[in-house]
Amino acid sequence: MIAPLQEDKKIKALRTMIDDAERIVAIVHMSPDGDAIGSATAFQSVMTKIGKDVRIVIPDMMLSSLRALPGAKEAIDATRYPDFAHQLINDADMIMCLDFNELSRIGKLGDVVAASSAKKALIDHHLHPSDFADVCISRPEMSSTCYLLFKVLCALEMFDYIEKPAAESLLTGMMTDTGNFSYNAADPDIYIVVAELLKKGADKEKIYRRQFETHSLNCMRLNSYAILNKMEVWEDMGAALITLTRDELNNFHYVKGDTEGLVNRPLAIPGVVYSAFLREEDGYVKVSMRSLGKFPVNELCHNHFGGGGHLNAAGGEFEGTMEEAVALFRSLLQTNKDLYLSNK
Ligand code: 5GP
Ligand code: MN
Repeated sequence: MIAPLQEDKKIKALRTMIDDAERIVAIVHMSPDGDAIGSATAFQSVMTKIGKDVRIVIPDMMLSSLRALPGAKEAIDATRYPDFAHQLINDADMIMCLDFNELSRIGKLGDVVAASSAKKALIDHHLHPSDFADVCISRPEMSSTCYLLFKVLCALEMFDYIEKPAAESLLTGMMTDTGNFSYNAADPDIYIVVAELLKKGADKEKIYRRQFETHSLNCMRLNSYAILNKMEVWEDMGAALITLTRDELNNFHYVKGDTEGLVNRPLAIPGVVYSAFLREEDGYVKVSMRSLGKFPVNELCHNHFGGGGHLNAAGGEFEGTMEEAVALFRSLLQTNKDLYLSNK
């Protein structure tokens, strides 16, 4: 049996909120990933079955591989259509916040959501949710929002409304947030949920190929270049760093998503327990970090890169040049030497 959610009071409040709402907007975090788009499209699919009008608003563009999810192509990109996105948020009766823990994670939309009179619900698995939602179902111990959403839908007695499209969306998020069940995937319960999604017709092989084994030629070459020429490894510290400048990205006609997963690659080297990837954007450097074991990359990202995330997967941004970001990273290697060595 699937382990129950045990959030009875919140589920009751959520049910009332949904029942009272006609127009619902689902919002996910910036640079939406498989868990964000998967949870939004699954939620939309199920709500449509009970007669609700759900629009998905995304702060910026999604990865092209996610456009195949049912309903994803109709999501409103607030960067391209800000007025329409703001209007939807202002006119909504209810806003469902999925896969983010604070309004800063949805960029400029944060102020619009805060100002909207709509009721707000949050379903998420990031640590330390801020207190902006009327109903907040936050479960950081769970590996994906999609897994949590499945349980929420069951608790709402909507299991029967999860059909193949929603099942494929949920499975996509569960797979992408765990690296196809390779990390944060020790809880036996997630496989019971997977079994239910498969029974509903989700095509696991198709989703796996689409999310993990589909790369353009430029993308493959960029990643190979990064590992061959731009990866530095400190074997004594168990640390690794990959950097890519704007020029390098341009050389390989980089499009969003092309470096997805690159930060994980150095962790394949025996002894490496901490990996960082710095990618130069316009005016700032995007930071991604991964670790094995107890090494808390969310603390590093929070303390030094204005970000956060999970114990083993976190990110942030550095306001400055790539040279300055690398200098900061190197200085952190020195000042945190004890931390690095104790986690090796
Ligand atoms: P990625 O490295 O794949 O971009 O992000 C990994 C995880 O780090 C995300 O799931 C998210 O929890 C967190 N994260 C990434 N970028 C940021 C950021 O700029 N701010 C915060 N607070 N968290 C981030
Ligand atoms: Mn997630």
